[in-house]
Amino acid sequence: MEYNADNVFAKILRAEIPTDKIYEDDYALAFYDIHPKAKIHVLVISKSMVTDFTDFMEHSSDEEAAGYMRAIVKVTHLLNLDKDGYRLVFNTGPDSGQEVPHLHAHILAGEKLKTDL
Ligand code: 5GP
Repeated sequence: MEYNADNVFAKILRAEIPTDKIYEDDYALAFYDIHPKAKIHVLVISKSMVTDFTDFMEHSSDEEAAGYMRAIVKVTHLLNLDKDGYRLVFNTGPDSGQEVPHLHAHILAGEKLKTDL
């Protein structure tokens, strides 16, 4: 799918829509999900303009890929999730229910999460 910069996360990156920013670096921006599905529900979006995980891994540089994945781990440290853990979700494509066509990881945590994926 061709990247379309009209999506809501591209608008957040351009600061056209405000968010409660948790973390930002050259590769990623993290903020709380507007409709949380767990006690802690944070989104980590890429600074790369790619639609999903496959697009990202196939078209980003090694530096961008590593920087983004490391940014996710930094956010889990900031949220103090080292001891209790977290779930990382990359919805990718229509069957996953992906709504926003800009790469994002969901960090779900803060409680015992249901295991029926
Ligand atoms: P997807 O289903 O694409 O994997 O997840 C998109 C997520 O983005 C959803 O969990 C939804 O609640 C969240 N979301 C959509 N629009 C906004 C927004 O404007 N602000 C924030 N903080 N989250 C959003």
